[in-house]
Amino acid sequence: MSKLVEIEQVRFAYSEDGPEILHGLDLTIEEGEYIALIGQNGSGKTTLSKLIGGLNIPTSGDIRILGRSVKDMAVKERASLVGYCYQNPDHQIFLNTVEEEIAYGPKNLGLDAPEVEARVVQALEAVGLLKYRKEEPYFAGKGERQKIAVASVLAMQPKLIVLDEPTTGLDWRDSCNMMQLIRTIHEAGHTIMIITHNMRLVAENAQRAIVMSNGEIQIDGTPKEVFRHEDFLAKSFVQPPQITQLWKRVGAEGEPWICSEDAVPAIMERIQKSN
Ligand code: ADP
Repeated sequence: MSKLVEIEQVRFAYSEDGPEILHGLDLTIEEGEYIALIGQNGSGKTTLSKLIGGLNIPTSGDIRILGRSVKDMAVKERASLVGYCYQNPDHQIFLNTVEEEIAYGPKNLGLDAPEVEARVVQALEAVGLLKYRKEEPYFAGKGERQKIAVASVLAMQPKLIVLDEPTTGLDWRDSCNMMQLIRTIHEAGHTIMIITHNMRLVAENAQRAIVMSNGEIQIDGTPKEVFRHEDFLAKSFVQPPQITQLWKRVGAEGEPWICSEDAVPAIMERIQKSN
């Protein structure tokens, strides 16, 4: 794996006289990773993800993408490397038709018309909305608008896609569809970073989980490793997935740590034995 993003000693405050939000943060994202950024509200997740996406500029420190400082990069180049999906798709969608919305980024990259068209088709196919290309973006529910927002980022073909709470406000079915879409995008070769409060989604999807608290990274490891830090997570108001809590309750802490629904039969067996 090669280093895609290197964050070095980054500090950030929203204003000169405002409080410092990130305090000398270091983080490396490797190409091909699927990372979940977790932690209680106000811990700095969105601030960090916007720094990675180029929407916030560090007060000090440096961010390198593929070895080059973002300070030396034009906006276009950066946008073609990292895409950012807002928590609320309505902050991202502003044009009259779905296809115009998706074409906006590629056009800004200066691509020619056939290439823009190819990207629109490819991105809308990926999210399953090609047949709605002529519709107004507000034609459907939040699940679809979230997909349009993802497609508009996909059309830029960035190496890293950062998604801020992609399932917030979606029902369970739309959440599953969105997570399936993100898995497909990851399998297609994009590096993924999601912010989420849903630990089941973290356990089932992410390869790496990063816990933030007070503008600092506190724990960084596989979801299994991270969910072992129960006491720390409790202080951060993060609860491991229910399946992990259940596994502990049936007295299996000493055994390999579980955070997947695949453990249900083993848990049932233990409950039956203990009855
Ligand atoms: P999280 O995503 O973990 O909920 P945020 O990055 O949104 O955390 O917020 C971290 C801190 O930055 C909080 O104290 C929040 O109040 C502050 N903050 C977030 N956005 C702004 C802003 N636009 N201006 C000033 N302070 C902000």
